[in-house]
Amino acid sequence: MAEAKKLDALVVGAGFSGMYMLIKLREIGLSAQVLEAGSGVGGTWYWNRYPGARCDISSVEYSYSFDPELEQEWTWKERYSAQPDILAYLEHVADRYGLMDGITFNIRVIAARWDKDTGRWTVETDTGETFDSQYLILATGALSEPKLPDLPGLENFSGPILNTARWDDSVELTGKRVCHFGIGSSGIQTVAEIGKSVGELTVFSRTPSFAVPCSNPPLTAEESAAAKANYPAMRDLQRHSALSFATLPKEGSAKECEPAEREKRLEAAWTQSTFSLLLEFDDILFDDESNALVTEFAQCKLAQTITDPEKARKLIPQDVQLGGRRLCAEIGFYDAINRDNVTVVDVREEPVVNVTKDTVVTDKGSYPADVIIFATGFDACVGAIKAIDITGKEGRSIRVEWANGPRAYLGLAVEGFPNLFTITGPGSPSVLSNVVVSIEQHVEWISNCLADMRARGAAVIEAEAQAEQAWMEHVDEVAQQTIFPKANSWYMGNTRDGKRVFMPYVGGVGAYRAKCDEVAAAGYEGFVLGDAA
Ligand code: FAD
Ligand code: NAP
Repeated sequence: MAEAKKLDALVVGAGFSGMYMLIKLREIGLSAQVLEAGSGVGGTWYWNRYPGARCDISSVEYSYSFDPELEQEWTWKERYSAQPDILAYLEHVADRYGLMDGITFNIRVIAARWDKDTGRWTVETDTGETFDSQYLILATGALSEPKLPDLPGLENFSGPILNTARWDDSVELTGKRVCHFGIGSSGIQTVAEIGKSVGELTVFSRTPSFAVPCSNPPLTAEESAAAKANYPAMRDLQRHSALSFATLPKEGSAKECEPAEREKRLEAAWTQSTFSLLLEFDDILFDDESNALVTEFAQCKLAQTITDPEKARKLIPQDVQLGGRRLCAEIGFYDAINRDNVTVVDVREEPVVNVTKDTVVTDKGSYPADVIIFATGFDACVGAIKAIDITGKEGRSIRVEWANGPRAYLGLAVEGFPNLFTITGPGSPSVLSNVVVSIEQHVEWISNCLADMRARGAAVIEAEAQAEQAWMEHVDEVAQQTIFPKANSWYMGNTRDGKRVFMPYVGGVGAYRAKCDEVAAAGYEGFVLGDAA
């Protein structure tokens, strides 16, 4: 067996997180390498190539801020860029900062083992190559491990089966009979696009999401110039806001607003941007009564949009508060749903009982299919980490320990797993923020920490159990003050004993940043720093 390659830092994943991490590790003079399962950079934007895939936070905001020159030289074509444009941007970043020679592609990390005697990680991969690294940094993505439903008889289906997160564009959909499962953000975008050209489309829904109309005009030269001039101010707002958007929630309560005025404001907010409805009053995510008023407004808007009452009954969320599940943006989704060749099936009232070679069979009907598409989501926040067999101190396994709900100090480090860092880990704002803003903050915190450790002569860092426990209690406490934990959503993790835990931190991106900075300034409070062995 070849000798393990020795590194200061091994990074897993080459999306927004892993690429920036590599830049920062090089800056502080560490030998570093990134391992990536895909054959190119981009992460989310490499894998999710389904028709209609695009961001739903404006690209000017959903982009790196670490280099003003990069901001000035890159011009976004649209407000919400399509996947190929975001991927082109990330490929440009990889070239511009010379990252490609630091990334190995087509290699999957399968196991990592902490050696207390050497104070290093031994990392195994599916190619047989092994690595021996002082630090292990998981940039594996909070939404990168797809979940596929286990439909009875699926193995008998003779046509192509597509998954939005692993799209195969050689499969022809024009004129075909398509059965599509799942209408979260990915499914809504896919259906909007394929609905234009497929022959017959059956959309299987389980828990419908609210989707707000988004217009996506090309950015004019004037708009781009204005955005470029405004970058410093906008980034400052993002970094210190609650959700890392440059648009802050408007002060005031929905329930205390005079009804005609509230209606007028919500009407204006409805088409403004993906999250403008939620930001129109600052108590929508905290106060049930205020939320109910805005939820009802959205339900009425959708009832006016979906022309067939049966389809509307199945697709308008009734048992969930607006914002409790990730709000979706739609550009043509309901237009597709309104077509005569589109059927909607609610699997809660009509479960799938079998799949034959060319039909999806429910307990009430049969739906012919040439192609099946799954847009059924991800094992969010923890899936990609648990997919690696990680063994920490005293043989402790992260898979076993997280079976009762994930835990991490600040979403950055896990007690029992020294010198391991997670970017956008559970307990960080991550998926409840503009994720790139959170990624940059994490990467900068980790690289500053590693540089500080070198300066202090420390070789090992580990989260303390008590600090981690207190942080997770705080994560839960702030979540309980909001509407989020009440929804059945992928923000919730399952525990072995049937409980559900809320995974992201909702105390605010700005507050979280301040806490991380305080921890570092206090000499890494809540961490133990030491020598190897
Ligand atoms: P990822 O981009 O997921 O990259 C992780 C990488 O790690 C992947 O390439 C994966 O192959 C690799 N990897 C994982 N495990 C291993 C392993 N064991 N070995 C080797 N490689 C491994 N966020 C927003 O804020 N705004 C948006 O508009 C938005 N749109 C999105 C649209 C889609 C379709 C999806 C799925 C997510 C979206 N997100 C959005 C969230 C998005 O995931 C983040 O914004 C961001 O791209 C995450 O970057 P990352 O580098 O942390 O993770
Ligand atoms: P998702 O939001 O989890 O949606 C998956 C949907 O599939 C859910 O409604 C789920 O219902 C449903 N489903 C699962 N199994 C099913 C089955 N057997 N039959 C019918 N329906 C089934 O996943 P996603 O759409 O991939 O989005 C995940 C996240 O990625 C988003 O919330 C967002 O953060 C990000 N994203 C963003 C964009 C964007 O516009 N920028 C685009 C795509 C993704 P249950 O809830 O009942 O399980």
